[in-house]
Amino acid sequence: MPAIASRQVPSRPFSLTPTRHHLMETSGFTDEQLTVREAIFKLCAPFTDDYWLEHDQTETYPHELHAALAKDGWLGIALPEELGGSGLGISEATMMLQTIAESGAGLAGAQSIHANVYATQPVAKFATKDQRGRFLRKIISGEWRTCFGVTEPNTGLETLKLTTAALKDPSGDGYRVSGQKIWISSAQVATKMVLLARTTPLEEVKKPSEGLSMFYIDFDLSQPGLEAKKIRKMGGRAVDANQVFFDNYHIPQDSLIGQEGQGFKIILHGMNAERSLLAGEALGLGYAALGKATAYAKERVVFGRPIGQNQAIQHPLASAYMHLEAAKLATYHAARLYDRSNPNRPDYDATITQHAVGVACNSAKYLAAEAAFTACERSVMSMGGMGYAAEYHVERYLRECFVPRIAPVSREMIMNFVGEKVLGLPRSY
Ligand SMILES: Cc1cc2nc3c(=O)[nH]c(=O)nc-3n(C[C@H](O)[C@H](O)[C@H](O)COP(=O)(O)OP(=O)(O)OC[C@H]3O[C@@H](n4cnc5c(N)ncnc54)[C@H](O)[C@@H]3O)c2cc1C
Repeated sequence: MPAIASRQVPSRPFSLTPTRHHLMETSGFTDEQLTVREAIFKLCAPFTDDYWLEHDQTETYPHELHAALAKDGWLGIALPEELGGSGLGISEATMMLQTIAESGAGLAGAQSIHANVYATQPVAKFATKDQRGRFLRKIISGEWRTCFGVTEPNTGLETLKLTTAALKDPSGDGYRVSGQKIWISSAQVATKMVLLARTTPLEEVKKPSEGLSMFYIDFDLSQPGLEAKKIRKMGGRAVDANQVFFDNYHIPQDSLIGQEGQGFKIILHGMNAERSLLAGEALGLGYAALGKATAYAKERVVFGRPIGQNQAIQHPLASAYMHLEAAKLATYHAARLYDRSNPNRPDYDATITQHAVGVACNSAKYLAAEAAFTACERSVMSMGGMGYAAEYHVERYLRECFVPRIAPVSREMIMNFVGEKVLGLPRSY
């Protein structure tokens, strides 16, 4: 378990020794967040740029990073202490994911553990005590890994229309799942899946958000009726993404989390957490790119002076930095609202509505993803030809930074949400 778990956090341990080699301004963060940041940088240090380059190019899973994080207890950062977790919040988990990405691991490194942190949130909140104990301890210890199964090929962002069905097994024992999922990260290495499936047909429910159920299932590719096929993709190649096929796949009754038919509401609890984590991951990628580009711009001499002395190089990087810093504020504001809206926390604030949490998490994800894209694109361009060389790493970051722009919800759908639900404009779709 990480030192943070026991809350042995010295007061302001970093005020005298600021980390100068990382670009993000860390004033205003809590001691716990700064402790997480310092410890994760240390843990990630052996995973060098060359490690991530090699794993990207050979499409090899970073098992060693997952194992190192599990060994020190980090996978349970936002899970309850009685299960072996640290009992911290999404504010600290976001810092952890950001720092992993920022260490040079990029989105691939962060994504290798990402679902274990956010997809377990609704399990921790809505499962029975017995289910929680059995399901979450092994995730925290690293013995099991989880993937998240929501997106479907024929329905995409229209989640409420998803067609994967979990029907009661005629024998009376559990359910049979049939249907297809797509883009499921880590399905090749996962032992569990958070699955959203229809238990009542769309035509038979009053509202489309009803009749969906959330399951925490064994994801056992050796069993009949389950198959995963890797998708070739642009970036984050160290971590697999998959098409998943269910054909009458049996799951026991015990895999149902919460009430049947209430799965959409339950899974939303994990989705806001995911937006916050992904915002952090985008920030980490952006700062990492900017770190490489500024170092290069100081050293690379053309026309008798470092390229960074030219304002055409310096200004785009400076403005990218400011955009990252602004997105950082939005991200940690959203994470704080998420945490403080939890009635089980001592700092619970009953005035924070779930609507406010949703707006903040969506906005943060949007802003951080765009800031990361700006930082990565400008970093590549400011490094000239070397920006395009795999050995200089920023091309990999640029390929990876499209993911937070697309997933788990696209830029356009966030605009639709803010336009309608915040500005009160007519629904556009
Ligand atoms: C690398 C990667 C990993 C992923 N991992 C997972 C995972 O582990 N689990 C999981 O469940 N999913 C995962 N996803 C899926 C991801 O969440 C979806 O790709 C994302 O939600 C977008 O859905 P879609 O690709 O079906 O896009 P579509 O729904 O087909 O949309 C395509 C485009 O049309 C736009 N569009 C659609 N409707 C509207 C509208 N009304 N107004 C304006 N624009 C609109 C969208 O914004 C988007 O740009 C992953 C995706 C990627 C790329």
